[in-house]
Amino acid sequence: MAEAKENVLMEKIVSLCKRRGFIFQSSEIYGGINGFWDYGPLGAELKRNVKELWWNTMTRQREDVVGLEATIIMSPAIWKASGHVDTFADLMRECPLTRKRVRADQVEPQTGTIVKYLGALNRSSGYVLRGDSEEYPPTISLRPEQERTILEEFVAEERPSSLNEISHLKLGLCGEEILMRLGFQGNQKQIANAAREWVDRTVGMWYSEPFAFLLPQGKPVEAARKAAIQFYTDRGVLEPCLIGEKTFRVENSTDFHPESGAELSEARPFNLMFKTYVGPVESEDNVAYLRPETAQAIFAQFRNVLDTSRQKVPFGIAQVGKAFRNEVTPRNFTFRSREFEQMELEFFIKPDEAIEAIHGSVATVPATGHPGEPQPNWGWQAWHQYWVEERVRFYEGIGLSSQTLGFHIQTPEELAHYARACTDILFKFPFSKKDEQGNVAGDELEGIAARSDFDLSQHARFSGKPMGVFDEELRGAWGKLDEAKKKDLWQRYHDGRLKYLTKMGVDPAKAAKDAKEDADGLAKGQYIPHVIEPSAGVDRLILALITNAYSEVTKTDDKGKSETIYVMKFHPRVAPIKVGVMPLLKNKPELVKKALEVRDLLRPWMNVFYDDGGSIGKRYARQDEAGTPFCLTIDFDTLGEKPELLDTVTIRHRDDGKQERLAIGELLNWLLARVR
Ligand code: ATP
Repeated sequence: MAEAKENVLMEKIVSLCKRRGFIFQSSEIYGGINGFWDYGPLGAELKRNVKELWWNTMTRQREDVVGLEATIIMSPAIWKASGHVDTFADLMRECPLTRKRVRADQVEPQTGTIVKYLGALNRSSGYVLRGDSEEYPPTISLRPEQERTILEEFVAEERPSSLNEISHLKLGLCGEEILMRLGFQGNQKQIANAAREWVDRTVGMWYSEPFAFLLPQGKPVEAARKAAIQFYTDRGVLEPCLIGEKTFRVENSTDFHPESGAELSEARPFNLMFKTYVGPVESEDNVAYLRPETAQAIFAQFRNVLDTSRQKVPFGIAQVGKAFRNEVTPRNFTFRSREFEQMELEFFIKPDEAIEAIHGSVATVPATGHPGEPQPNWGWQAWHQYWVEERVRFYEGIGLSSQTLGFHIQTPEELAHYARACTDILFKFPFSKKDEQGNVAGDELEGIAARSDFDLSQHARFSGKPMGVFDEELRGAWGKLDEAKKKDLWQRYHDGRLKYLTKMGVDPAKAAKDAKEDADGLAKGQYIPHVIEPSAGVDRLILALITNAYSEVTKTDDKGKSETIYVMKFHPRVAPIKVGVMPLLKNKPELVKKALEVRDLLRPWMNVFYDDGGSIGKRYARQDEAGTPFCLTIDFDTLGEKPELLDTVTIRHRDDGKQERLAIGELLNWLLARVR
């Protein structure tokens, strides 16, 4: 029951998003397009604020991260190197009735009665047997009901458990018998030949693909027959005669389409990249892809950024931008879209062997919590934990409390083969599932992965361009190590490289040679940086912020009339409009003039909404729905009716309705302290 309530909540949120101009369905006037969403005036501001906050936090406020803005379409070689061309696929299953696809791992378990058919016969009317040589009998025609009877009788007699069990010979014998019973005239040979032709044709009329259907609760078996007839008709069987109907119960089966009830096809991989062609010729040579993630451009431009930014490892490159995935089942509003935005950081670090060579050992990481300010002796574990904690801080700083967040630490089975760890930060959405105890873990907002040196290594191999860096400190330190330590570090680095090369299918002799060269390189101060990747989705975060902000109160007045009031309690940092500015009365030019002065004072610094229409209460309510944290009212006291209040305004707080008085001269700093 709780689930139904949550769906109602999602419906209300979707409806508010449309009503107030946060999110619209893309191409709505043409019936929409599944998996694509547009952001309206308030949504566009919200999104801009979120991206700007991320950018400021991740780049401008740090010494060790720089930005990048790359193209959406890049050389297809990038996607070959990254593995996306070969492996970026979801296992998906198709509904044979609707052709809709669902992700194999996302089919809801269902319990009920299954009706199964082995196939169908084509019993089109006017079936004709013809004989055109002397060996063949003259043409005979079967009346439709005659033929139907024969076929059904035959099927009933056979009761095959699989159509393949009916042998051609057996069918041939039946054919002869059938012709005789029909009073077919001819000698033995003519009958045998006619029967053979009949069998050939009849066998050709079997459509032997099984079809199964999960009966909806309380529906008669006719519903299954109707679906099966549609299934076989779609496959060219005219007037299908259903064969071998069987019913049985299933518990928690994930084999049936949740909407149509039809049994799903086997799971097949389905590449999620959108394909296009560059230039006027649509040939395989011109294939290109819309990027399915922003990260790869960062790896591909790693060298250029390193050479031009005066950064040294450890450092990061950040990018915000569009990504495209032809998701099999876009769902949960914007949560799984086909076009979305990502905010990704690739933070490049030294391999642990280099840290050990320089600092003697790699810093140990506290079991939980923030490991503090970055230290030179941090290995991948400390950096990974650092970025998980930094990202959580970011979310808390924009109003997502720790109670609304969750974590999923990927198990070794879930991890990509090259990854050392991956922690997903989850948000508890209204549609997030409950476990048996009623606890909600949440759904992924962001993944923070320790990706080893896989990405740069792949691009180095595929492009033939060096992706390694030279580290003077490492070279100096290596020279001072004792022989045993050198040998130990050399061996560990060598083994890691060899494992990677072997996994990638590099010829064993070449892999052995390259791994040795790489380990020799480490001893000379060279390595391919490892990477920690915090990768967040803008749209999922917007959805989290909207569902987190949503609140409604139903008030009933003295006359029993009830009204529901919606307040979007956005953190002031992300709120689309920071402040509403309102003259108490619209028809008092002095009030309007002063209010416009206040608006113009604030406008260069933040998004201000000027509103002079309707009662002040209505105007507040409108801003509450938009999530505006503060409203300023310019009244007669502002103009000096009470001299001590001259040039002050009323500030009204969205969340508790409290009001206070503030001098216009202090306004800007007061607001900036809260909205930045
Ligand atoms: P999921 O398992 O939910 O498909 P993912 O693990 O494939 O996500 P990543 O490839 O790690 O996602 O992408 C990083 C982030 O990009 C995700 O945490 C998510 O916020 C966002 N993202 C990925 N796919 C989508 C999508 N189809 N729609 C909206 N955001 C997405």
